[in-house]
Amino acid sequence: MKVFDITPINEWFPSVGNPLLIAGPCSAESEEQVLATAKELKRTGKVSVYRAGVWKPRTRPGEFEGHGTIALEWLKKVKAETGMPVTCEVATAKHVEEALEAGVDMLWVGARTTVNPFSVQEIADALKGVDIPMLVKNPVNPDLSLWIGGIERLYNAGIRKIAAIHRGFSSFEKSAFRNEPMWEMAIALKTQHPELPIIVDPSHICGNRELISYISQKAMDLDMQGLMIESHINPAAAWTDAKQQVTPEALSKLIGNLTLRKAES
Ligand code: PEP
Ligand code: MN
Repeated sequence: MKVFDITPINEWFPSVGNPLLIAGPCSAESEEQVLATAKELKRTGKVSVYRAGVWKPRTRPGEFEGHGTIALEWLKKVKAETGMPVTCEVATAKHVEEALEAGVDMLWVGARTTVNPFSVQEIADALKGVDIPMLVKNPVNPDLSLWIGGIERLYNAGIRKIAAIHRGFSSFEKSAFRNEPMWEMAIALKTQHPELPIIVDPSHICGNRELISYISQKAMDLDMQGLMIESHINPAAAWTDAKQQVTPEALSKLIGNLTLRKAES
């Protein structure tokens, strides 16, 4: 089995917390919302990378699909004004080109994109020769090979800063979670590829604020390297994923209450 030669996650950015925490709103809604949220998150002192969705994959047409190019300017301002590295989702070669041009520091492949090898390959081809950290969310369906296949496509394009994001799996069954955690999938990935960092996305697993600290603690107990948590200055008014976003203050408390594994604390 192939062993990925991955650059350790604590070398990706000048300042990486334990756990690596990626936080920010589901969607970049306005310059004010993006900057105000970033400034509050910066003040917590716990956030390693700021996230905001620039292009949003929506299940049904006619909903807010992201501001696109203009929102990249807001991320540039976040970098300039807070010093935090920034990240957004990319789904096409054009997204990659625009995000790189804007100086976005890390990119992620969304769950709806990982299912499509053509799309992941298009992203990988657009990245050839670029040394940027890349995160690959699990596909919406619990297919470990498809998840690893997406990672391999980026790795084969020369990317060495790669992590997987576990964001849960779509299910027909009714459950307390928006996407089933199915931890056995992340554990299987870790077992096959112990060298690959895994970041857990409690927001998209839970679909509600209430369960986020439980899933975050579970991620720490399972020795996962990072968390991606959606945070909004005014969660109830969020344009997307309003039920699962938390204020920067709530996020700070939640992270402060996590018990880290002894060897790493
Ligand atoms: C997101 O991170 O806002 C998102 C759309 O996530 P996912 O691809 O996990 O659904
Ligand atoms: Mn979201």
